[in-house]
Amino acid sequence: MDSALPHFLTSAPADLAQAAALLREGECVALPTETVYGLAADALNEKALAQIFTIKGRPLLDPLIVHVLDLAALAEVAEPDARLAKISHLWPGPLTVVLRRKPCIPNLVTAGKATVAIRLPAHPLFREVLRLTGRPLAAPSANPFGYVSPTQASHVRDSLAERCPWIVDGGDCEHGLESTILDLSTPGRARLLRPGPLTIELLRTLLGDVEVVTRASSHQFAQDAPGMLERHYSPATKVVLFAPGTTPEVEDDAAVVFIKRRPTSPLGAEVFNFSETGSVAEAAHHLFALLRQLDQRHYTSIHVELAEAVGLGLAYNDRLTRAAAR
Ligand code: AMP
Ligand code: MG
Repeated sequence: MDSALPHFLTSAPADLAQAAALLREGECVALPTETVYGLAADALNEKALAQIFTIKGRPLLDPLIVHVLDLAALAEVAEPDARLAKISHLWPGPLTVVLRRKPCIPNLVTAGKATVAIRLPAHPLFREVLRLTGRPLAAPSANPFGYVSPTQASHVRDSLAERCPWIVDGGDCEHGLESTILDLSTPGRARLLRPGPLTIELLRTLLGDVEVVTRASSHQFAQDAPGMLERHYSPATKVVLFAPGTTPEVEDDAAVVFIKRRPTSPLGAEVFNFSETGSVAEAAHHLFALLRQLDQRHYTSIHVELAEAVGLGLAYNDRLTRAAAR
């Protein structure tokens, strides 16, 4: 019997050894991280990298994040920067740093740029596969380009199907939002390219001044951080945002999503809540799964409450704003 694709692998040692063997042979394997599921491939193998772009329908000008086990492995692919000493205790974790690249890194990874984005992921299954593979692994989110990122193994299967034949199932992703991206590739300048689970407030405490690159502050935006296209993480159903604490006026057959449960609901709408306590971390954890779920249900529109624009709220609002862009 030829079992249907994709094949799910587990945390069993034999399964992780198989995932590592596949990666060493140049195959792509979807792996869980603490942020979202990644579509991993050997970052030094051009053929394997090319498959990532084909499977995702990702434009070649969108560079990939390279995942490594430790700082020694980082130093093989990027030029370490002295400022890493101030932030490296945040690793392993949901922080990606852009540094000057080493020549061994193929142009496909960096979109031809002189820099490379590096992360030391914390997820134990991803780390074990990195250890067993012994290679740096490029891994963008395991979804079709532009769609909502996957936070469960079933999301990868639902949107990539047989295009991604191997998925390591690590359950729900802890953070549910993509990593924070910090650009340290220019001496004396630190720039936040993408807000994420590690907050700008924390990075400023450790590094001093950190510029925030926004769409408004850079016409070069698409080149600086191509994954930060205005429209990204988008469901097919129209997403409409409303200010924290307010109640939107909505048409019938709309869905309304509050961060914290409310005593009263808008008329005619179906109402969802992320959290009993109003925790933004909980909202972020569930955001992409709920957007996917609601996108299947043919609402006229999905109205989602924004968070206060501090801490994790910045990353949460950023993903929602992109999901709402048309
Ligand atoms: P993802 O698709 O979630 O894996 O995110 C990858 C994103 O990292 C890209 O879309 C870019 O925004 C960013 N990135 C990767 N490499 C670089 C780089 N060398 N310079 C700037 N941003 C980068
Ligand atoms: Mg992505």
